[in-house]
Amino acid sequence: MSNTAANEPTFRESVDLMFNRAVALMDLPPGLEEKIRVCNATYTVRFGVRLRGQIQTFVGYRSVHSDHMEPVKGGIRYATSVNQDEVEALAALMTYKCALVEAPFGGSKGGLCIDPRKFEEYELEMITRRFAYELAKRDLINPSQNVPAPDMGTGEREMSWIADQYGRMNTTDINARACVTGKPPHAGGIAGRVEATGRGVQYALREFFRHPEDIAKAGLSGTLDGKTVVVQGFGNVGYHAAKFLAEEDGSIIVGIIERDGALVDDSGLDVEAVRNWIANHGGVRGYADGTYVEDGAKVLEHECDILIPAALEGVIHLDNANEIKAPLIIEAANGPVTANADEILRKKGAVIIPDMYANAGGVTVSYFEWVKNLSHIRFGRMGRRQEEARHQLIVDELHRLDEQLGDAWSMTPDFKEKYLRGADELELVRSGLDDTMRIAYQSCSQVWNERDDVSDLRTASYLVAIDRVATSYRAKGL
Ligand code: NAD
Repeated sequence: MSNTAANEPTFRESVDLMFNRAVALMDLPPGLEEKIRVCNATYTVRFGVRLRGQIQTFVGYRSVHSDHMEPVKGGIRYATSVNQDEVEALAALMTYKCALVEAPFGGSKGGLCIDPRKFEEYELEMITRRFAYELAKRDLINPSQNVPAPDMGTGEREMSWIADQYGRMNTTDINARACVTGKPPHAGGIAGRVEATGRGVQYALREFFRHPEDIAKAGLSGTLDGKTVVVQGFGNVGYHAAKFLAEEDGSIIVGIIERDGALVDDSGLDVEAVRNWIANHGGVRGYADGTYVEDGAKVLEHECDILIPAALEGVIHLDNANEIKAPLIIEAANGPVTANADEILRKKGAVIIPDMYANAGGVTVSYFEWVKNLSHIRFGRMGRRQEEARHQLIVDELHRLDEQLGDAWSMTPDFKEKYLRGADELELVRSGLDDTMRIAYQSCSQVWNERDDVSDLRTASYLVAIDRVATSYRAKGL
């Protein structure tokens, strides 16, 4: 750790500092500010699993930052860096994130101190089931109280084990599947959840580029088309964000940073080819169609329009904040910019789309999955064909006109197919996610643009989120 890094606040302190900056601009009743800021409870569990002929002990956490709404919600992370400070910081962000996107949850987060790459699949299953058992027996996994989801190092597979473990412990709970989100489709998941956070990053950027005054603040112009992008972390969130931006918005991915280094190509990297290379070789090293940079973190400083940190917290800090060239940073990861770096970047004029908004796509679609599990029916099942039948009436009518008017008018060739098809679950999920990301951005942008004392989107987002949490506490009589 360098000297400057030693002067950095911890992740939780960073979140608190950003919170404090915002509440200083609010008029909260005495004591409520403290009540909202503090983490309500953190449960630490140490459990043993017999593996490879001996008992191995694992340490896990589940923090509940705020239960002003229940269930509380937040992912479970598997990483060796997991500790109480980190889990509490992430739980706090969940509180604000859920409030911002109007998902009716309090904030929670969990973590297991483990390097999942060091274990066989059947070993990970035993460890995950045991961890789930320890949490479920204290209602820290429960459809009406605490609903985990994937985070770094976990995905559909782990969520499916957790759901099954909870189901075995609660055989008569008809809502058991709603105890966790991010499950695979065959285990009660929802279409579009895997890519939801990356998709949300794309929708967030699209909405940003619909606001000319905000684009101007970043010193940019135009649309996402042709914008150069550097992404750090090519896992679930980073890969999907890069893929959608390149394939659907015409953005150019000029840098990809992974654990073992980075790839750079100013004419654009092939997202799918890099993804396949990583899947087969465990990292980016050796990939031929790009320049390999051993010190991957240096590529955060590469010239680009948009920087997407999508790996872990604290990667932009006192030591490198001044070197960051991107005028627009979108925090796909949680907490990638420390409070100190945030100040430096703000002074430099960089615009930061903050984590609590930028990566809220995951919890938004998790909310849809939870509702689907509780309603025991797939979205669109009741209305889709009826919608198609009504559209058919209009198409028949247009056909009649077409025939009567002859050459004077004709239907656009693919209009009929497009118009007739009723929305399936995936389309409904995307529509719900897009709507959520647009509305949440608009509420933050409005505060950012209308209040003279608010100079950045992060403070604006905290103001919107804290106000909603405070309203909820007040309604409870606290
Ligand atoms: P993931 O495990 O799928 O991917 C993380 C990627 O980052 C991996 O490819 C890993 O190799 C890479 N990585 C790790 N250390 C790195 C380093 N030092 N430099 C560069 N790359 C590194 O995790 P994820 O689900 O994509 O989560 C990434 C971030 O997004 C986390 O901060 C997480 O909290 C946040 N997030 C995830 C979700 C979700 O739905 N998965 C939702 C909201 C926020």
